[in-house]
Amino acid sequence: MSTEQAPQVKKPKTHAAGPAAVASSLNHVMRTAGPVRGTKALLDLNQKNGFDCPSCAWPDPDDHRAPAEFCENGAKAIASEATQRKVDPAFFARYSIDELQQESDYWHDQQGRLTDPMILREGATHYEPIAWDEAFSLIARELNALPSPDDAIFYTSGRTSNEAAFLYQLFARAFGTNNLPDCSNMCHESSGTALKQSVGVGKGTVTLDDIHHADTVLCIGQNPGTNHPRMLSALEETVKNGGKVVAVNPLKEAGLMGFAHPQKLKGMVDRSTSLASQYLQVKINGDLALLRALGKELFEREDKESIFDHDFIKEHTTGFETYRKHCQQADWEELVEKSGISRSDIEALADTVLSGERKLITCWAMGLTQHRNAVATIREVANIHLLLGAIGRPGAGLCPVRGHSNVQGDRTVGIFEKMPKSFLAALDKEFGMKSPRKHGHDVVNAILAMDKEPGKVFFAMGGNFLQASPDTDFTARALEKCRLTCHVATKLNRSHLVTGKVGLILPCLGRSEHDEQATGPQFVTCENSMGIVHQSKGKLDPASENLMSEPAIVCGLAKATLQTPIKVDWTRLANDYDQIRNLIEAIIPGFDNYNERVREPGGFYLPNPAKDRRWDTDTGKANFSDVGDLDQFEVAAGRLLLQTLRSHDQYNTTVYGLNDRYRGIGMGRRIIFLNPKDMEEREIKPVSLVDITSHWTGEERYAKGFFAIPYDIPRGTAAAYFPEANVLVPVASTARESNTPTSKAIEISIKPSS
Ligand code: SF4
Repeated sequence: MSTEQAPQVKKPKTHAAGPAAVASSLNHVMRTAGPVRGTKALLDLNQKNGFDCPSCAWPDPDDHRAPAEFCENGAKAIASEATQRKVDPAFFARYSIDELQQESDYWHDQQGRLTDPMILREGATHYEPIAWDEAFSLIARELNALPSPDDAIFYTSGRTSNEAAFLYQLFARAFGTNNLPDCSNMCHESSGTALKQSVGVGKGTVTLDDIHHADTVLCIGQNPGTNHPRMLSALEETVKNGGKVVAVNPLKEAGLMGFAHPQKLKGMVDRSTSLASQYLQVKINGDLALLRALGKELFEREDKESIFDHDFIKEHTTGFETYRKHCQQADWEELVEKSGISRSDIEALADTVLSGERKLITCWAMGLTQHRNAVATIREVANIHLLLGAIGRPGAGLCPVRGHSNVQGDRTVGIFEKMPKSFLAALDKEFGMKSPRKHGHDVVNAILAMDKEPGKVFFAMGGNFLQASPDTDFTARALEKCRLTCHVATKLNRSHLVTGKVGLILPCLGRSEHDEQATGPQFVTCENSMGIVHQSKGKLDPASENLMSEPAIVCGLAKATLQTPIKVDWTRLANDYDQIRNLIEAIIPGFDNYNERVREPGGFYLPNPAKDRRWDTDTGKANFSDVGDLDQFEVAAGRLLLQTLRSHDQYNTTVYGLNDRYRGIGMGRRIIFLNPKDMEEREIKPVSLVDITSHWTGEERYAKGFFAIPYDIPRGTAAAYFPEANVLVPVASTARESNTPTSKAIEISIKPSS
C-alpha cells in the first residue's frame, strides 16, 4: 500500500482559475497525451464539429465557441483519456490482482488506456487476454444460465452515449429485466423525484442565456469551481449584466467567491471578478431550514405588501395555502439554529431574491441531493420559485447541474429501473417484444441484492461502480459473490480488481477517438444539463486497434445472448448509428428528425413542458410541496456530521492528481477538514493522523489514518474526499423516496490515530 506522507497545507484560494488553471491544464495534457495528440484533442474539445467533453454536463454556448472551449478539468479528462500510456496484456502479466489492489486510485489512472479484452478466470491471480467473440459467448452463457433474468444487473455510467444507452436498455429488457441502475441513482435522483412532483419534469428548466440575464443566481450545495468550471464564465456574465450571485455552502469555495477568466486579459494576470455577493455557510443538511426561513420571510413581507406573482400562483399552481401554513407555523429560532444562518442574513437573502424582476435561478448539485430529506429540500427550492413565478420565463428557473456528461441523456433514452409504462409499451410495439413490467433495482438495491442472493451477473457500461458506491467494503463483498462481473471501460480502475468468480474487462473507444464502422465514420450524441442534444465526433486515433465502440459492444453482446430474437438487426445498428437514432426517434417524444437536427451545429433542445408553463404533474398544475417537517439529520453529542466531496484534482472517482489547489492542499488524499474549535475540543493537532468511525443504527464503520486539516467549516461538521471516505457511508442510509445514498450527511466520531 502506498503509505501517504503528510500533505502540504497552504492558505486556501479566494478565487478560481487564472493562469494556474492554464498551467495545470497544459501540464496534464502534455505529460500524458504529448504535444501533438494533446493539442489536437484540446482544439477539438467541445467544438461544434468536435467531441463532447467526457467530464461534466455543463452546456456549450449555443452560438460562438471559443478556440479553447474547455476548462482545467475538461483538459484533465482529455489528458486522462488521450494518454499514450497503455494497460496491455504485458501490463496484466506483470501485475497480479493483489499487487494492483495495493496501488492507489491515482496510480491506476496513471497507468494508461486499456487495449485488449481481458479475463480473470476463476482462481487466477492475473488477468489474461481473451478474444472478443469468446468474451461475448462467455457472458451469454453466464446470463442464460441464470435462474431468472432479474439475476442480471446492467449498470450504466453517465459517460455512455445516447446511442449505446438506448441499445443497452433495449438489450436488457429483451433479456428480460429492468435492473438498469445508473450513476444518477447516486447523484441527481433526488432532483428528478422532487421536480417531477413539483413541476412535472425531472430536469432543469433554464438555458445558458437565462443564467446570463438572471437577477439572482442562487448556487446551493454546489462547488462549480471544481465540478462545473465553465459555469464560472456564466456567473461572471450574470454579475457583469447586473445580476447577483448568492452562494450557500458549508465550505468557503474559491470558485464561488471569485473567478479569474483565463481567456481574458484581466484573468490572465490572475485578477478576478467577485462572484458571490452573499456567502451563506449553512450547516451541513441545514438547507431545508434555510429555504423554509426564506419562505417564511417572504410570507411575512407579503402580509405587509404584495410581493408574490399571484396571477401565476392562481393560474398555474396548487397547494399555496398549505405551504403558507407550514411557513407561518415554522419557528424562527429553530430555523436560525438548524440552518446556522442569522435572521439578518436571511433578510438580506430575501432582499436579493426580490430584486429586479425577480428573475431567480437556483442551481444545485450533490450538496442538496445526497441527504435523507433531499427530495423535501429540492421541493422547497421549487416552492420559492412558484411564489415568485420564477419559472418558465426568461432569466428564471430551476437548474440541477448534472455531474456527468450524458447522465441526463441516458435517462431520457431508457436507462432507468422504473421507466413509465408508455415507454415499455412503445418498445414492445416497435420491436415485437414483451418487456418486463416489474421495476428493477437501483444502485443501492442492486448492491443489497448481490449481497443477499449470490451468483448474479453484474455488467457495467463504464464507470467505477465499487468506488462510486457507498459502503465500499460491503459493496466489494457483494460484488465478489457474483458468478461474473464485467466492465466496459477505457481506463483501469478499482472495480476491475474486485471481481465475481470470473472477471472481464472490455476496452472501448473513448469519446475523443475516431469511430469507424462498416458504413464509415460514426458520431454519437449526448444531452447536457440544459436539455440540448448534440453531436460528439471522435477525432483522435484510437489507443488500440483492438477496441470496440460502446454500441458495437452492446450489439455483439445481444447477438450472442438473446435466445428469443426481437425485431432488431443488431449488425445494421452497429454499422450505422443513424439507424439507432431512427429507433430513438420512433420511441421517444421530442426526437423528431433526430438525424437531421443533430447535424445542425450545436444540436437541438428537447421539449421541456415546465419551460412553457405546462405541468405534467398528477394535478396538471405546478405543486407547492406539503412537507411540514424539516426532517433534519441530528448527530449525537460529541459526534460530527461528515460530508464527502471531490478535490480539485478529481472527477467523480477518477483521481487525476493529489492536489486540491483551491483548498490549499498539496500531495494528499486521506484528508479530513475540521473546524479548528472541534479539533481543540478533541485535542487533535493540525495535520496529525486521526481515525474516523461512522455510526448508523448501532453499526460502526472505520476509516483509519486521515490527516486532520483545520478549515473554515461550520462547527460540528467535517468533510473528506470520496472514494476514500465512502467506506464510512452505510449502504442503507439513503434519501427518502429517491433512495440516493446520503453521502453528504454521515454521523462520525474521530480520535487521534493510535
Ligand atoms: S465545464 Fe464540464 S463539460 Fe465543460 S470543459 Fe469543464 S468539465 Fe468539461
